Amino acid sequence: MSTRPSVTAYIGLGANLGDPAAALREAMVSLQQTPGIESLRASALYRSAPVDAAGPWFVNAVAEVVTTLTAPALLDVLQDLEQAAGRERPYRHAPRTLDLDLLLYGEGRIASPRLTVPHPRMAQRAFVLLPLRELAPDRVNEAALAAVTDQPIERDPPDVSQGASRSRVH
Ligand code: ATP
Ligand code: CA
Ligand code: CA
Repeated sequence: MSTRPSVTAYIGLGANLGDPAAALREAMVSLQQTPGIESLRASALYRSAPVDAAGPWFVNAVAEVVTTLTAPALLDVLQDLEQAAGRERPYRHAPRTLDLDLLLYGEGRIASPRLTVPHPRMAQRAFVLLPLRELAPDRVNEAALAAVTDQPIERDPPDVSQGASRSRVH
């Protein structure tokens, strides 16, 4: 049996339906338990206003994984987790229970019908760049960060960090 080399990849997590923080935490645990994913580091949770999307505010995070999975196999894992969380796609950028995007796969560049890496819209999104910077500051461009400062986003909001038992009254 041949052993594939380990690659460090970054996954963007987002949700704005149901209990988004719980969905993100569960997804992180599931990723950690996935064969072929050797380790995982998570950013803080962020709350962001919808950008290119509909519905309530999002909870977002980024996870760094060290994996022996290929990029397409990792996308399969992400899409299975989205399905398990009840993801539906009634229209483009609809509200979602869980969205998992493959942001970076090592230094890989991929352009296939189902997978583009680096994720083509990540550099325009504060909710990707800020959590990614926590884990991999050298993968985040300062000019890109400066260009997204108008996007409303809050790191570690108290009602999100308290988890599923938090009050839903605002
Ligand atoms: P956006 O891509 O702008 O963040 P989205 O996450 O809402 O939008 P989805 O409906 O989740 O879009 O995904 C649409 C398709 O994008 C998926 O079926 C998948 O094949 C494709 N795709 C291409 N590149 C990637 C990537 N890097 N990570 C995840 N999906 C990708
Ligand atoms: Ca997305
Ligand atoms: Ca997606």
